[in-house]
Amino acid sequence: MRLPLLFAAGVLLLSGCAGAPSREPAVPGPPPAPPPSTGSAPTRPGVTAPPGAVVASPPDVTGTRFIRVLLSRGTSEVVLEGGTIRAWGTDGRLAAEAAGRVTLAAVGERIRWDGSRLLGDTLDVAGAPDLRVGNREVVGRTRFLARKGEVLVVAVAPLEAYVAAVLSREAPLRFHPDALAALAVAVRTYAAGAAARPRDPAYDVVATVEDQVYDGMDGVAQSFREAADRTRGLVVRYRGELARTVYHSTCGGRTEDAVSVWGTDIPYLRAQLCVDCAESPVYRWEYRMSEAEGRRVANALGVPAGKDLRIAVTGRTPTGRASRVRISSGGVSRELQAAEFRKAAGDARVRSLKMEIVPVAGEWRFTGEGWGHGVGLCQFGANGMARRGAGFREILARYYPGTEISGGSP
Ligand SMILES: [Zn+2]
Repeated sequence: MRLPLLFAAGVLLLSGCAGAPSREPAVPGPPPAPPPSTGSAPTRPGVTAPPGAVVASPPDVTGTRFIRVLLSRGTSEVVLEGGTIRAWGTDGRLAAEAAGRVTLAAVGERIRWDGSRLLGDTLDVAGAPDLRVGNREVVGRTRFLARKGEVLVVAVAPLEAYVAAVLSREAPLRFHPDALAALAVAVRTYAAGAAARPRDPAYDVVATVEDQVYDGMDGVAQSFREAADRTRGLVVRYRGELARTVYHSTCGGRTEDAVSVWGTDIPYLRAQLCVDCAESPVYRWEYRMSEAEGRRVANALGVPAGKDLRIAVTGRTPTGRASRVRISSGGVSRELQAAEFRKAAGDARVRSLKMEIVPVAGEWRFTGEGWGHGVGLCQFGANGMARRGAGFREILARYYPGTEISGGSP
């Protein structure tokens, strides 16, 4: 979220594995603004960002038909494959056409088409019957921009297709339909907020956990499409504005206050008791950090590690999550944000800050609860509620209290 927007979103639970999240739930989106951070996965990794005020949204955010997703950048050329490949310039005129395969290269601020023609700085490309960029199938238009010798690849995805595709990466297939529907609304709300406050003039969101994971439309299961269809156009609002629909994998019994993670109190993102995520595979977890790994982490955090290395939690949030960690060795001691420590140790190892650290024979035993920053919607909790009979509206009301759901297709 850019700022205010979203800080949010997600976490992915799975990234990969449904069921047992192999990846960390991170939060997507924070604002680019710098911040202090703290929590586990701040909105955007790397930046801790504070969510700011509620984001203002366009009058009809549900009218957002497309979202621009940055798929890749950093290379000077990309290969497109498809049947018939057509490219239009910003003036709407057909600029080039090719069959089968074509290479686009950035030459300064212009795009070179297949090693020969030099075109403008932006091309909108479509393939018939399909188009692949690298090995990724893209749906709808794909925009290519040349910027200082680098090619930016931006999917211009239909919003609802994007919601289904993100769900397929953020939620396990085996989740109850109402849990998926609740998450679909959260994903859409995040996207709508992002579209109202783009990350870059050329794109609204990136395709990674910094926002929400989008990996194209390949293999998106029917259940995810149905969750998007069933909630088509619905978004979460707080006092009329788009809510920051942050979510995470598993809270471990109690969600976290946004203020403890991002430094800003958000009325609908305050700690809630949650007994519904007990079936999560990471409701309780343990990680043993070896001596060598402890030294690596300490060194990475600026404390030269010796035999007397100590790692301890020195501060906690009201929900019991670690907020400060002290690392000391050889007379050097550093206290840092627990989130910084967790990131250095590995978010998939130290899955949450709801943890205890116990030194055991030269190693450290971490025992914890849940996965992710813990703010907002608990995905496994949502699934537990749905299995008990709760509908998606009830689930959203529980994790985002005081908000309302609006929008929807006529
Ligand atoms: Zn929970």
